[in-house]
Amino acid sequence: MSLSIDMSDKRALVMGVANARSLGWAIAERLLEAGCQVGFSYQGERLKGELEKLTAGRPGTWIQQCDATSEEDLTALFQRAKDEFGELDFLVHAIGFAPRAAMEGRFLDTTAEDWNTAMNVSAYTLVSAARHAEPLLRDGGSIVSLTFQASQRVVPKYNVMGAAKAALEAATRYLAVELGERQIRVNTISAGPMRTIAARSIPAFATLYGSAAEVAPLGRNPTPEEVGNLGLFLLSDLSTGMTGQTVYVDSGASIATIKAQAPAAAEGKDR
Ligand code: NAP
Repeated sequence: MSLSIDMSDKRALVMGVANARSLGWAIAERLLEAGCQVGFSYQGERLKGELEKLTAGRPGTWIQQCDATSEEDLTALFQRAKDEFGELDFLVHAIGFAPRAAMEGRFLDTTAEDWNTAMNVSAYTLVSAARHAEPLLRDGGSIVSLTFQASQRVVPKYNVMGAAKAALEAATRYLAVELGERQIRVNTISAGPMRTIAARSIPAFATLYGSAAEVAPLGRNPTPEEVGNLGLFLLSDLSTGMTGQTVYVDSGASIATIKAQAPAAAEGKDR
C-alpha cells in the first residue's frame, strides 16, 4: 500500500525496538517511509547491534541506550534528542515487561515486587517519558503507546500485565488532559497478539494467538504493518481530533467472545 503522508519536517523518538518484529519498529518504519527523522532508544547493549542494522543507511536516525526506569538514562536520552533534533513532534512508547513468574502463577499470588516491576516498566515509564518529552514537544505533537485488551477483559496468564495495561490506558487519558492545552495528543494502540520477543514471555502465547484469530471477525490476527499504519495515523495530522483514546487494531477480536459465524451459514445449519 502506498502512503503519501509527508513528515519530512517531523522528528520522532521511538522507545522500545528490540528487532525487526517489534511493534515499535512497525511504527518507526512507517515514520521513516514518510520522511520523518527518527531517534531510537534500546534497553540492553545486546540489542544495540539489531538496532544498528535496522537503522543503517537511514538518514536522520540515531540510537541511544536507555533503561526507561532510570531517571538518569531518561535525562541523557532526552538531552540527546535535544542535541540531535532541537525539538520533537512525536514520542512512541513501545515498552512492556512483567516478570515471567508473575504470569505463570495465579494472579492472587502476585508479589509486591513483581507488581511494582510490571507497573513501573509497562505503565509508569509512559508518564516519565512524557514528562521528559514535554519541554521538547512542539505544540500539536503526538504521543502513542501500545496496549493489549487484557486491560479490559481477563486473558488467561496475562495477570499483572493486564493490570499494568489498564494503568497505561488510564495514564493515557490523564496525560491527554494535561497536554491537550498545547494541542499535544496522547493515544494508545490496543494491538492483537503478535509474535515478538515480549510475546515469548507470555505463557501459553500460542494458544492466545490461535484463539484471538479464531474469534476475530476478520478471521485472523492483525499484521505488524497494520499496527504501523495505525501508529502513523495517530501520530499524523489525520487524527488531530483524537486524544486520550485506546484504539484497537485486533481484527475485531475484542468485540467477540465466541467464534463468529456468518448469518447465512448459521441459518443453513439450523434448517
Ligand atoms: P518487543 O519487540 O520485545 O519490544 C518490547 C521492548 O520493551 C523491548 O525493546 C524491550 O527491551 C523494551 N523494554 C523492556 N523493559 C524496558 C526498560 N526498562 N527500559 C526500556 N525498554 C524496555 O515486543 P513488542 O511486542 O513489540 O512490545 C512493544 C509493546 O507492544 C509493549 O508495550 C507490548 O506490551 C505491546 N503489545 C504487544 C503485543 C504482542 O502481542 N506482541 C500486543 C499488544 C501490545 P529489552 O528487550 O532490552 O528488554
